[in-house]
Amino acid sequence: MKVTGIDCHVLLAPDFSVERTSSAQDSFVVEVHTDAGISGIGETDVNPWIARACIDAPGTHTMGRGLRDLVIGEDPLDPAAIWERVYVGTAMNGRRGALINALGAIDMALWDIAGKAAGVPCHRLLGGAVKDEIVPYASLQPDVSSFEAYRSSLVDWALRARDLGFRAMKLELTFGGPYRHERIEEPDERMGEVIAAVRAVVGPKMAIMVDVQYLWDNPEKAARVIAGWRDFDLFFVETPLRSDDLAGYRRLHEANTGTRIAAGEWLATRFEFEDLMDRGLADVAQPDIGRVGGLTEARRVCDMAAERGRLIVPHVWKTGISIAAAAHLAAATAHCPYIEFLPPAMTGSVLRQELTADELVFHDGVIALPERPGLGIDLDRAALERYKVA
Ligand SMILES: [Mg+2]
Repeated sequence: MKVTGIDCHVLLAPDFSVERTSSAQDSFVVEVHTDAGISGIGETDVNPWIARACIDAPGTHTMGRGLRDLVIGEDPLDPAAIWERVYVGTAMNGRRGALINALGAIDMALWDIAGKAAGVPCHRLLGGAVKDEIVPYASLQPDVSSFEAYRSSLVDWALRARDLGFRAMKLELTFGGPYRHERIEEPDERMGEVIAAVRAVVGPKMAIMVDVQYLWDNPEKAARVIAGWRDFDLFFVETPLRSDDLAGYRRLHEANTGTRIAAGEWLATRFEFEDLMDRGLADVAQPDIGRVGGLTEARRVCDMAAERGRLIVPHVWKTGISIAAAAHLAAATAHCPYIEFLPPAMTGSVLRQELTADELVFHDGVIALPERPGLGIDLDRAALERYKVA
């Protein structure tokens, strides 16, 4: 089998705002076609115009090429070989960041093709299911207009998620977005109030995670605050320090706060996760499957985490395509206890609601294992055309 074509789709939600910290407002979707008549679908979470350029750009150097040139004509049933070919053939263009993020969309589509060609769901090709069901956690989005609105909106969300059957939830304690915590005075103390209010209404059994979106620039301060949250029994605290402050993450680890530290949502390639786990000593690695370089690379990161006794909880804030990829990865990964998931109607994202017909059904706190061949998703062509940017 050979790859014969790659269609790139830049999608944009009409109500997008650059003031929002949400990557559900746009998408970059690829369709990879083959001479066998099988096509695969992939997606990645990065500026979609940049991702398209990484694929479309020509090149004049053996290690400075565009992705399309490198992938056309190759065997789609060997995603790892294509990954290596692209990594070497684009080495001067990045080796990290947008280039690898764009490769992630293509790689995801190749796994979709491989599953469809074999007539099996992708989790079978990823090593086989090691669990009977997938447990999602709900990401709760606050109203940031005032502190009171903030606290009550998260409590309301938490109750709604609990009533829907969720067993785990994550509080976005951003107070207005990354690097904008000055909107609320004394954010460290006020965050504790919010967590306490949520814990009080959902009870002791609910797994609660907290995402502080790179809040602190001082690991000792982060350690003090997180240690003060010990009684809330948090499952993890996400991205307490800036992404590149691996020395800070190590110091935070050594401070023994009693709570797991999670990070890695932006990282590309196993090499960046190696740094996060071996230098930063993060307890939970959070690869976003598109960004890290696709399912090929995500599986390698899962293997590295297993060797080190760490957990995997993938980042997903995109359409049904990326969510399906995360579900297949989680099904085949014993040390991946949760995926990030909300029922489409709760997301407020038209792309999440309309772009795909998903196989995944949330019921009684869990998602049944996907069974359809490949990723198990279908694109809604009308929605694709509706949100496609020329
Ligand atoms: Mg996050």
